[in-house]
Amino acid sequence: MSRSEVSKNSLPALPPTSNPSPELQKTGPVDVVSNAECADCCDKIKLVPVNLPGKGDTYLDESFAPKVQSMIDNAKANGVDVIFVSGYRTPEEQALLRKNPRAITPAENSLHSCGFAVDITRDLWADKSKLDIVREAAEKAGLRWGGDFRKYDPPHFYADPPIERKQAIKCAEEQYNKIK
Ligand SMILES: [Zn+2]
Repeated sequence: MSRSEVSKNSLPALPPTSNPSPELQKTGPVDVVSNAECADCCDKIKLVPVNLPGKGDTYLDESFAPKVQSMIDNAKANGVDVIFVSGYRTPEEQALLRKNPRAITPAENSLHSCGFAVDITRDLWADKSKLDIVREAAEKAGLRWGGDFRKYDPPHFYADPPIERKQAIKCAEEQYNKIK
């Protein structure tokens, strides 16, 4: 396994305080979590460090990272190296991107901001034969494609987080601020 592949084995170096016991969460002050009805939500989001070809070091959710690796492997088997331009983006980075008129349909609450989306390089999505291979590889890996959005976003591959998106973004941001 080369350094250029998504690391499967490196578990996140989270400080122990980032993962309080369920008991602590239940009895802690209300402001420990941002949404009282979803006290255990953040247990379902876990950013892990990955190294994406092209992008380099970034973070993805631990359930999403293996799917991206599978997409890379599937495409490779069909002769295409998947190169990425984006992985995790903080809400601040996402807000900056929204001010860039050249950016493709950046959402306000982006799955990039909870580690459930990646973008591939233009060389791939602008080349139909390569894009077809990557799309098939992604579908096989359980990922969905932004090209199916009403607002066409062809570089974007994603999966839906297990909790509500805004909540997932908050959880990811809290983790990112501790591990970055
Ligand atoms: Zn994207």
